[in-house]
Amino acid sequence: MYHQPVLKNRRTLLERAEKFISEIYFTDCNLRGRLYGDACPLESISSSLSQQRIPFLEAVKQNFEPYQVGDTFGPTWWTCWFKVSLRIPDSWRGKQVHLSWESDGEAMVWRDEQPVQGLTKEGEKTSYVLTECLKDDETHSISLYVELACNSLFGAGKGSMIAAPDPDRKYSVQKAELVVFKSDVRELLTDLEMLVDMVKLLGEGEQRGYQALFTANEMVNLCEPTNPSSFPAARSLAQKFFSQRNGESQHTVHAMGHCHIDSAWLWPYEETIRKCARSWVTVIRLMEKNPHMVFTCSQAQQFDWVKSWYPGLFSQIQHFVQKGQFIPVGGTWVEMDGNLPSGESMVRQFLEGQRFFKKEFGNYCKEFWLPDTFGYSAQLPQLMQGSGITRFLTQKLSWNLVNTFPHNTFFWEGLDGSQVLTHFPPGNSYEMKGKVEDLVNTVKNNKDKGRANHSAALFGFGDGGGGPTQLMLDRLDRVQDTDGLPRVQMSSPDRLFSELEADSSLLCTWTGELFLELHNGTYTTQAQIKLGNRQCETLLHDVEVASSLALCLDKTFQYPSEPLQILWRQLLLNQFHDVIPGTCIEMVVEDALRYYQGIYQHYDIIKVYISTMILSRYTSALRYYQGIHQHYDIIKVYISTTILSRYISAADGTVLMENGILRAVVNKDGCLASLYLVETNREAISHGCSGNQFVLFDDVPLYWDAWDVMDYHLQTRKPVVEVVSPVQIASPGGLRGSVTFTLRISDKSTITQEIILDAMCPYVKFNTQVEWFESHKFLKVEFPVRVRSPNATYEIQFGHLQRPTHRNTSWDWARFEVWGHKWADLSEHGFGVSLLNDSKYGYSVHQNTMTLSLLRAPKSPDANADMGSHQFTYAVMPHTGTFQEASVIQWAYNLNSPLRLIDHAPGSHTVAWSAFSVSAAAVILETVKQAEDRKDGLVVRLYESHGSSVSVYLTTGFPITEAWHCDLLERVDSSRPAPITASGISISFSPFQIVSLLLYLK
Ligand SMILES: [Zn+2]
Repeated sequence: MYHQPVLKNRRTLLERAEKFISEIYFTDCNLRGRLYGDACPLESISSSLSQQRIPFLEAVKQNFEPYQVGDTFGPTWWTCWFKVSLRIPDSWRGKQVHLSWESDGEAMVWRDEQPVQGLTKEGEKTSYVLTECLKDDETHSISLYVELACNSLFGAGKGSMIAAPDPDRKYSVQKAELVVFKSDVRELLTDLEMLVDMVKLLGEGEQRGYQALFTANEMVNLCEPTNPSSFPAARSLAQKFFSQRNGESQHTVHAMGHCHIDSAWLWPYEETIRKCARSWVTVIRLMEKNPHMVFTCSQAQQFDWVKSWYPGLFSQIQHFVQKGQFIPVGGTWVEMDGNLPSGESMVRQFLEGQRFFKKEFGNYCKEFWLPDTFGYSAQLPQLMQGSGITRFLTQKLSWNLVNTFPHNTFFWEGLDGSQVLTHFPPGNSYEMKGKVEDLVNTVKNNKDKGRANHSAALFGFGDGGGGPTQLMLDRLDRVQDTDGLPRVQMSSPDRLFSELEADSSLLCTWTGELFLELHNGTYTTQAQIKLGNRQCETLLHDVEVASSLALCLDKTFQYPSEPLQILWRQLLLNQFHDVIPGTCIEMVVEDALRYYQGIYQHYDIIKVYISTMILSRYTSALRYYQGIHQHYDIIKVYISTTILSRYISAADGTVLMENGILRAVVNKDGCLASLYLVETNREAISHGCSGNQFVLFDDVPLYWDAWDVMDYHLQTRKPVVEVVSPVQIASPGGLRGSVTFTLRISDKSTITQEIILDAMCPYVKFNTQVEWFESHKFLKVEFPVRVRSPNATYEIQFGHLQRPTHRNTSWDWARFEVWGHKWADLSEHGFGVSLLNDSKYGYSVHQNTMTLSLLRAPKSPDANADMGSHQFTYAVMPHTGTFQEASVIQWAYNLNSPLRLIDHAPGSHTVAWSAFSVSAAAVILETVKQAEDRKDGLVVRLYESHGSSVSVYLTTGFPITEAWHCDLLERVDSSRPAPITASGISISFSPFQIVSLLLYLK
């Protein structure tokens, strides 16, 4: 057909094509307006409302009342079940017929008692395909159920997404009818959309953009929306354009379907179970139609939920896992927070996760997958390597507020030198839509151009949006090899990383933690969750040690492996990246605290059991395992009070406390005017300053309330100075000397504290009670110390690292609030001060002021976050030499490990014995547990804590026949027996190395 040559008017041509596919403009005559054909009402629709999330078979027995489209129901978190009867008109023979369903909330279609597809407007899933091509001999009358959760994709925030949920919101169905769907129109629309996007994204500087423009324009010329016979000619123009290929050097995008599902966040855990089912069943439907489609899916916990609640769906998933389309990734129980869980917790994330994947799907995961976590511990590379994982995918550092992370594909080197190949998808998203924009950004943003020629693109709606859509697949399909765009292939993590590994010689290395310069409030928000986590980590540790000792003493002892697995899994679940950081709604906080309560209660049961079965016959095993950590509390008990000169004296408003190691002068407001290390005549508190100074900050972030504390909060510092009751002596002496006082924070909030100096104890302990009813305030405590050092040291998982105390560069000052575990230390040569805690994670050390973050008061997504009573303990410990020489690490364990008492029968065996001991203080015996797959085997896990190379002997009073090195999944390395010598089991460590041994008991 002859046309006049088009004028050189890029804008009108582009907008013409845009209007031709617009959903808003000219739908009366454009192509988009022809996407659907005839419509027909449903035969009947009735509904039944349920406050609970109930199973299908229970739901269908409920009373159903007639429902009119438009009627409202609710409130939030309830479920409305719909019973739908429909009949497809005979005249629609040969047509594709959809149930068109537009509603609020998140829905699941049930057919023949099975879940068949998710429906959600926000995830662009508003139709259920009844037939691809209606035939006379297929059933035209169909009954369905639709289960509709009264919450949207991101919960039910009142006014904004992260606001606390609106409990009274009403929901409705806006459309429910049968429609004819015209797939030929859809195909043409997709062609045009991709071309238009190429015109826009390649811009005026690219010849290829003009070729796309003229192709689209000519297609509009050829295509008559009302005449489908005009479509093929238009389509063939598009196909010709898309099949013009790239050169060989073009970047390759590895597209993978994905659906990031937060295990709880703006909705409770229970709803997540349904989000998984809705999303994954939709993915299965897509896989049936698209045999090349690949979907990556993380979090063993979510698979386990679906296995329990939707067994039919789970076996379909297993089928597609075997086919290589549904790909389990990550290897962990949940996508946990990357900062706060302890070293052993992180090991268990991998142990529980990998063992689940192996058992259910036949393979361990090869990639660690954590796209959405708020920073990544420097110990993770070693933990990955120990769990059979050499590759890591994330992208969250693209959220950095200050500095741009310099790599997308690189080797990440951890604290001990372990390396993993790491990839940040350059599109900076894990929820792409398969659009031209995603592909162009992937190439443009790649910071390793010339070094890495392969990238991942994860596409699909997350959080219940149901993951990928057919449209996304169709988009990607068109541009597999189209000049002007990167090559696109449906791929898998294994293919991507194999390509990257094959050509890695030019890749850079990043050493140390991946610190997220955002969300630093998450080290402090929801203090009760943090406390529960720390206490339960310690408790499960203790139960395992005690049970292991009981097992060693009596082989008939039933090690409580099943309850322990359940409790560990609950603890691991609460470490999910919106729960332990405290960024979840109040309902989730309640769930999390209930799980911790369950762990405490189970401990009581297990304790009684262990006590009755075994320990009563021996001296308290629990007491002795604590020797592992050099628990000085025990020693204290044996020390005669006569040795313990304890002096407390009051004068002029101050109190002097002394225990022979430390001498502290406490002002009437609880501040330390002086903290003196007697042995070396060193004052620890900075001249003219006070230690234990409470300070309050305004804490109003830019948006992410529970998540973020911004740099500017530091400008609003106000000391807490108002004394309600001045310091008075609480314990005058003997084993413990202490004073108490109360300060007023505001009209609503107070701090009551007991400052404690124990006999033989090298630290001053602060037992703190805060009544906290603030709004957008941040409470911290400061210790300005007489130490000068450019770096402070913070404990992390199985080790420690240094961060600067100055603000030279943007990388330094962006870390104005950092995380640490049980202790932080500031030392100069020969002297230092450590700040220990029992449940806190937020720290900062600026110049010579050490600060511990105590409580925040954000209002969303939990309007009541942290309101109420809090109890926590911290301690300050001046020391000579290095913190290693001063045993700060052991003392921090001491502060966190309460002495647990178990009754034992009078007259029973009370000879002292030692279960385990390690010959060098640098090595910590962290874990003693029964081996997962060997009832007569113990796994012991040790780590080098000083940052030194050292050889040690592990001695034990138990008869061990063999000792083998094993990995974190407890797989024995048959090339590495651990020699058992007369001095004990010989083990060598490099700095921060984690060693696991499998011990065979006689
Ligand atoms: Zn997330």
